[in-house]
Amino acid sequence: MGRSWLPRLVVGRGLPYFRRSEGNQRGGDALHGGEGPLRVAEQQEPRALSRAFVEACGENQIRRNDDFNGTEQEGAGLYQVTQFWGERRNGERCSAAAGYLHPAMDRPNLTVITGAHATGIVLAGKRATGVRYRAGKGEAIVKARREVIVCGGAFGSPQLLLLSGIGPAVELAAHGIPVVHELPGVGKNLQDHLDFIMGWTSKDADMMGIGLRGLPGLLRHLRRWRKDGGGMIATPYAEGGAFLKSNPAIDRPDLQLHFCIAIVDDHGRKLHMGYGFSCHVCVLRPHSRGEVGLSAPDPLAPPRIDPRFLSDERDADLLLKGVRMMRGILEAPALAKYRDKEIYTAGVSSDADLMAHIRARADTVYHPVGTCRMGVDDMAVVDPQLRVRGMQGLRVVDASVMPTLIGGNTNAPTIMIAEKAADMIKAA
Ligand SMILES: Cc1cc2nc3c(=O)[nH]c(=O)nc-3n(C[C@H](O)[C@H](O)[C@H](O)COP(=O)(O)OP(=O)(O)OC[C@H]3O[C@@H](n4cnc5c(N)ncnc54)[C@H](O)[C@@H]3O)c2cc1C
Repeated sequence: MGRSWLPRLVVGRGLPYFRRSEGNQRGGDALHGGEGPLRVAEQQEPRALSRAFVEACGENQIRRNDDFNGTEQEGAGLYQVTQFWGERRNGERCSAAAGYLHPAMDRPNLTVITGAHATGIVLAGKRATGVRYRAGKGEAIVKARREVIVCGGAFGSPQLLLLSGIGPAVELAAHGIPVVHELPGVGKNLQDHLDFIMGWTSKDADMMGIGLRGLPGLLRHLRRWRKDGGGMIATPYAEGGAFLKSNPAIDRPDLQLHFCIAIVDDHGRKLHMGYGFSCHVCVLRPHSRGEVGLSAPDPLAPPRIDPRFLSDERDADLLLKGVRMMRGILEAPALAKYRDKEIYTAGVSSDADLMAHIRARADTVYHPVGTCRMGVDDMAVVDPQLRVRGMQGLRVVDASVMPTLIGGNTNAPTIMIAEKAADMIKAA
């Protein structure tokens, strides 16, 4: 998912790498790749419910968009998905590992160690010479002849740098870690898509749920999945989507919807009996900034994550607008036959009451970035070649290097960054 929502500068520089990574079932064109390792497919069998969502958007004057990664991002449609298509693995998830790593497993110059936890970067002064890790009970070291590339994601990468003595002096001192290199931006600048969910129960059972009513359909779909990877089992859950402008005068969407064919409560931790649907709305370019630090100097302890969601009132105001727009869509006639009871926000209508719900329930939609920000200023962690500033032989390549959060989903952009980094590493 995602291209036209990127800052224009990145589109220019990133586009060749997006195209190189993408293997779109629709084939390649000026904005898409058709042959890349990251397979992008049409959904196998989207539910009628999701098509009704797109119709409901139309009833709210939101135009149809069949390619959010085309020339226009605004509009409503069904997402394409990162799944294998037309092959033996039709309908299976094409993760970065499945698309890139698994086909390379036989290379003689590749060793993959699984079940390993990196506990620190081995340093000789300010040069990275290896990585320390724990696998099982023992600790081991992998030596690096040329570079260490940290790819722990927006939480794991700053944590590993901090554990290795690279970061803000105050944070390191608080945990008794000697400063190897003071880099005040490590862990700062955390940005994430703040998201709010509305949900309805449904008397229809042609969706994902828990109950006997949907069982015959589910068994049919399971048989289909075993046969050719098709049917509802291949659903991405978030089948429908939309990119909206909170104000027609702005030049690009600032809100995104994910429409799900199931009841989503507390990230799926709370299960509901029965059937229903949910819709997420998120703020695409939040102003709030959080941070990642250490909860302890123990490398196995989880990092301290403070997203500081809603610390900037502009995010709260925009999310409230988004919730109202989303509700208008979910209450449109096209979805009438699917709606039964509103789950969380029934009867809640004033701004103050909706805002209280937002403050109580809004949460991440899993797109953290920015904690090892790329740049050339004092707070930047990596330079434009993704090398850790002030260090040698050390790069970060993952979502943490994004200076600002992009206005869409973050998986494909992270892979684009990795494609570009591969060229930079080879050229070094
Ligand atoms: C539930 C969920 C749903 C998502 N859905 C979508 C979606 O539909 N579309 C989309 O575009 N994006 C989606 N994303 C976001 C997308 O997955 C991320 O943007 C992307 O994976 C970021 O890639 P990354 O390489 O930066 O980090 P990651 O993919 O998180 O990779 C970092 C890896 O490093 C490992 N690691 C961290 N620290 C250590 C350590 N010390 N030692 C060893 N290993 C370590 C982690 O376990 C992880 O495997 C979703 C994310 C989540 C969590």
